[in-house]
Amino acid sequence: MNIFVTGGAGFIGSHLVRALLERGDHVSVLDNLSTGRFANIEPFVGHPRFHFAIDDLRNALVLDRLAAESDAIVHLAAAVGVKLVVEQPTETIETNVLGTHAVLRVARRYRCRTLLASTSEVYGKGVSIPFQEDDDLLLGPSSRSRWSYAASKLLDEFLGLAAHREYGLPVAIARFFNTVGPGQSGRYGMVVPRFVRQALRGQALTVYSDGSQSRCFCHVADTVRALLALLDRPETTAGQVFNIGSTQETTITKLAQQVIKRTGGPGEIVYVPYGQAYAPGFEDMQRRVPDIAKISRAIDWQPTRDLNSILDDVIAYEQARLDAGAAQ
Ligand code: NAD
Repeated sequence: MNIFVTGGAGFIGSHLVRALLERGDHVSVLDNLSTGRFANIEPFVGHPRFHFAIDDLRNALVLDRLAAESDAIVHLAAAVGVKLVVEQPTETIETNVLGTHAVLRVARRYRCRTLLASTSEVYGKGVSIPFQEDDDLLLGPSSRSRWSYAASKLLDEFLGLAAHREYGLPVAIARFFNTVGPGQSGRYGMVVPRFVRQALRGQALTVYSDGSQSRCFCHVADTVRALLALLDRPETTAGQVFNIGSTQETTITKLAQQVIKRTGGPGEIVYVPYGQAYAPGFEDMQRRVPDIAKISRAIDWQPTRDLNSILDDVIAYEQARLDAGAAQ
């Protein structure tokens, strides 16, 4: 198949591109390298089935040309990361909403099966754990810019599902819960690479808030396996929403302790209030656990990697970068 991956130079995107090339697909990538890195796609440059354009999602001509040659689009490009979202809310909303609108327009024009990346953030402050795809959603007020990410992704979901209902476009929505693994940037607030880098440098690990908030971390290899299976099963793109994530829950304090243990670091944890880490009045969710029954039924998928194995992969990757003296 010819697959067009937006955001293919990003963390999840570059792992997906590698897997697609390995199984024989042709892959086109569009990425503006805002949070992605050229180094992520450099290994594929020169591959006969790989093509990339460094450009913005909102360049209609490039988007049209790449979609015209594709059977399917995996739309991953987005403004990502809590820090970026809080600091640049306008860019977040425009990239996510206008970008997805543009992608869906070309998908309709060329009848491309489309996977849209969404997020567990859309569950907002919901407390009905585990979160199911059809749950009511509870976002915070528009005066708190962190909710603009969830709201923009939710609008993306509505746009995608509307394109399916009104125009018969084959669309699936993938709601990712925390996806982690080698190659994830820690610059925009992602907790696992940030902790691992701090520990490897012998620094204190900075836990935001009191550390009792919990998350479920899914290895990017498991996430990619789910995306490949969704691409392969036409019935899944009939206007469906799927949670993709691990159900192994851990508090952020326990995560920090585990990182310290596995890196053999000195072991100090410093607690920083959210208001200081992000912005005054910053709100977060206490727990986020996906119900994965729907995707398990649809594609027979379960995460296979536990937190220790994820941490070992990230530690090995970050240690290699540190040894090579990579700029952060
Ligand atoms: P990432 O930042 O590594 O990837 C996003 C990519 O999109 C980057 O390469 C960036 O350069 C590119 N991009 C951003 N704006 C663009 C634009 N206007 N035009 C072209 N390219 C643009 O992040 P990721 O973790 O790989 O996330 C991929 C997708 O998964 C995103 O849609 C994100 O919202 C979603 N998601 C990720 C997680 C996670 O835990 N990693 C959780 C929930 C949702």
